[in-house]
This record gives sequence, structure tokens and C-alpha cells, in this order.
Amino acid sequence: MPQGYLDEKVKCPVCGVTSQALIRWCDYIQRSRDGVAKKDSRFTIVTIAICPECLELLFLRQEGIYRLKDPHRNNLAQEITDIRSFYPPKGKLQLSKDIPEEYRTEAQEAHLCLEHSAAASALLSRRLLQKILRKKFKVLQVKRDAKKWTSLFDEIKDFLDNNPYAPLLKTGLEHIRQLGNIAAHPPGEEEALTIVDISYGDAKYLLNFITKQLFQVAFINEAEQKRMDAALNPPAK
Ligand SMILES: [Zn+2]
Repeated sequence: MPQGYLDEKVKCPVCGVTSQALIRWCDYIQRSRDGVAKKDSRFTIVTIAICPECLELLFLRQEGIYRLKDPHRNNLAQEITDIRSFYPPKGKLQLSKDIPEEYRTEAQEAHLCLEHSAAASALLSRRLLQKILRKKFKVLQVKRDAKKWTSLFDEIKDFLDNNPYAPLLKTGLEHIRQLGNIAAHPPGEEEALTIVDISYGDAKYLLNFITKQLFQVAFINEAEQKRMDAALNPPAK
């Protein structure tokens, strides 16, 4: 069974990282009429691999051609001419069903936007982050009940100062709080419409923080705990 890393780098359709995927299985299909490798005949390799970044299974197709390496010995070398992933479908994040659908949908939108516009993606992520802080963790609830305006900058601070889960999210939230355009807005400004000036890296950081850390703490851990409790105390028959 083939093991090791692919020779060519491939872009993971799930997390978007380009890397040498880890091969788990592959099959060669000779494309010459008699099924034998010869000079200039073509081949296809179907590979199941694992993305080293997000650990998703990837199904890849490589197209190639046999080149004559050493005419005296009739040595053939494989030359890959094209490599692409055909599953999972490109452009979708794999998100746990423990996350309520409205949050999953918004994260997918921010993810789909990212390759085209970092600013648009960051706006969606920003809104999602704020929604979770407000609805799930009730940051600055008293102030907002009194109809007072609060900035994301202050809401993050409130979470870090008062929420028992703060240590788990501290590093990411402190970084996001320092992304000036993301966390701070002048009072009264229509936040959702404000164009943010943000780099691709920072927009991606923000989205990764939400999908890999915040979702875990806000929704997945709790759902997992409920499943464990239910297994320990099965309902009486
Ligand atoms: Zn990946």
C-alpha cells in the first residue's frame, strides 16, 4: 500500500491550504490501448489522501504522461500534468451539526467570500462573532437592555473579563480585538455596512478563530457533554 506524501502540492477544497497531502490509497489506470506503460502513453492516478492541515479525506485525480528517461534502457518516468481534487466539493466548510444552522450558514458565507474579498468575508465573520457573543454569552447584556450602544471591542473585553470560558479563547480574541477595523467602530455607525480594510491573512484568522475555536466552546463542547451525560444516565424504561 502506498504511503507517504504526494509529490505535487494540492489545494484542499475544505480548508483551502495548499500542501502535500498524505496518501492512504491510490490506483493507477493505464491509458494506452493495451494497458501497458510505454513512451508518451497517458495514465490516470486516483488517490485517497488526507489533508495534513484539516485531516479531511480528499479524493484526487492525477493525469500524467510517461516520458522516456533513458532511451538505452527504456526507462520510463512518470510526469504529472494535472492534479485536482474531486471530492469533497470545493468551497464548503465541514462544520459540526452541533452548531445551530444559522451560525453554520453564516460561517459558510464568510468562507465562500474569502477568496474573492477579504473585507466582505471579515464583515460577515465580524457579525457572526458579535452575534455569538451577544446571543450565546450575553455580553454587556445590562447595557444593551438599557438600549445603550456597545462596540465589539467592549463586548470582547466583557467576555474576557467575566466569562468562565475566557481562558480558552483569550489569545484569539485579544488578537481580533487589536484588529482595529474589526472591533472598534464609532458609536452610531451602521456597522454592517462599514467597509473594513483588512488583509487576507487577518480575515482568514478571524474566520478560523470562529470555526475552529469559538464554535467548539460555544456549541460543540456543550452538545458533547450532553451526549456523555445521557450515556451515563440512560432514561428509565
Ligand atoms: Zn484541508
